[in-house]
Formats: sequence, structure tokens, C-alpha cells
Amino acid sequence: MEYIKSIHNLLFPTKNLCYLCKETSDSINNFICGDCLDRLEFVHRKIRLDSPFINIAYYTLIYNRYMREIIRDYIFNGKSYLYKPLGELMIRTIKEKDIIDDIDLIMYMPSHRRKEAKRGYNQSQLLATYMGKQINIEVSHGNLVKIRHTKDQNKLNKIERLYNLSNSFKVKYKEEIRGKRILLIDDIITTGTTMEECSKELIKNEAREVYGLALTSSKKLT
Ligand SMILES: [Zn+2]
Repeated sequence: MEYIKSIHNLLFPTKNLCYLCKETSDSINNFICGDCLDRLEFVHRKIRLDSPFINIAYYTLIYNRYMREIIRDYIFNGKSYLYKPLGELMIRTIKEKDIIDDIDLIMYMPSHRRKEAKRGYNQSQLLATYMGKQINIEVSHGNLVKIRHTKDQNKLNKIERLYNLSNSFKVKYKEEIRGKRILLIDDIITTGTTMEECSKELIKNEAREVYGLALTSSKKLT
């Protein structure tokens, strides 16, 4: 049933329909109406991460009340079709920061098989696939994987989070990433620990540089 629902969501009709509020409008631009666009707060901001393995990480939008609803719909309510408008928003950051020429390969946060099977899709993979196609950069699939089923990060403190995630990601085919500059896509950065751990694994497997990009971030600014 869940599966059928997500297929339906992927086939969501287009043309003059805002993907976010589902109203029809003449002011649709990249699947979003003018009213919804006004409710989004663009920042294209750098996020502070404590990791020597990540070159720089950005997020596109402030995690305001509207963004929270969108994230909830996208991640938990099966609205997989949102990858299109959200991918478009993230491409704005890539253009704004002028990093297209600094990227050889796009990768995304893996989700554990069990979780993905339940949801029917990996939300970061949908974003990465769409963005890669739009900006004409290759996307790596199924190479960076999650090998342990970890506890939900938001129920743990910083130390427990590090311990929970350590060695839980793995690169399967080192030759695909060797010497490459990688853009790692995530939907939301909460603590940054997941992105730090993935970057560590990529650098350990001889990636040259890792850039991060998330749609939004709920990480406290320190
Ligand atoms: Zn709208």
C-alpha cells in the first residue's frame, strides 16, 4: 500500500500547480508558486562542522516553521514528489556559491535498507539524482552505504551520537571516488555528525575533497 502511494506521488501532475501548497497559480516557477517562495528564507549559509574531512558545507534555507512542514511531508508523509522543487532550491546554492566547477561527483546520505523499505524511497537520493541531471554532474549510486542500523540520532547527546555512528558507513567501490571532489547531499543537517562520518569514510577511501549541501539545517549556531 505504501509502495502504491509513493508511485502515485512520483506521478503527481504538473503544470500551473504548486508542489508545495497544491494551489494552481500563474506564478509557478520551478514547481513553486510566488506565495510559497515568499515563505521560504534563503541563506545559502556555510555550516560549521568540527571535521578535518569536510572542505565546506552549505545549507540553502532557514529551518523556519514552513520549512519544518515541508521536511515533515517529504521525509515522513511519503510526499516523494517534493524532490523536484526542493532539488531546484538547492541548485540555487550551488549557483550562488559558484561551486559547479569544483565538483566531479555527487553522492548522497545513505539510509539503512530497513528504513528505506518502510518509506519506499531515500529522500537524499531523489534530491541528488534530480540535481545531477539538472547540472550535468554524475551521481554515484549505492557506493556509500550504511552498514549498521543505528539508533535515531536525535534521541542521543553529542558523545553518544559519535559513538552510535562511528564506522557505520562504508565505501564499497573505492576506485569510483579516488581523487574525486565530491558533493555530498543531505536533506536536513541536525547535528552534522552524519555528514562528518560520511566525509571521513570518503576521504579514507581517497576522495580528494568533500563538499556538503543540505536543504536546511536545524543545527544551533555556535
Ligand atoms: Zn504554493
